[in-house]
Amino acid sequence: MIERTIERKKYPNYMAKWAFGHFPKDSGVCRLLVDFYAYQHDESWITMEKSKLGRDDSVQAPAEFWKAVLATVFKEGPNIYASGPKPWQKDRCQYHKHPDGEPKCSA
Ligand SMILES: [Zn+2]
Repeated sequence: MIERTIERKKYPNYMAKWAFGHFPKDSGVCRLLVDFYAYQHDESWITMEKSKLGRDDSVQAPAEFWKAVLATVFKEGPNIYASGPKPWQKDRCQYHKHPDGEPKCSA
């Protein structure tokens, strides 16, 4: 998922309900989606009216997700807009675990 976002410069905006419904909110996938929103946010993610299915985060994401996004934005403040690598580019291993002995992903 991280590779794909870097490649295409596009971020998923319809996964929060699924992720928060299936994994704990401190799981890697939930934290990654929160970081995408917090650091890469784009007004259109919230305001666009593209989804006839109504399955995008703007209508479906749970309050827990938005709370986590806002908490990150408030905590990081201007750091959110700093140039340079985003958290998932700096250390992608923070979003998953490696079994003992397996090497970490290279940056
Ligand atoms: Zn890794």
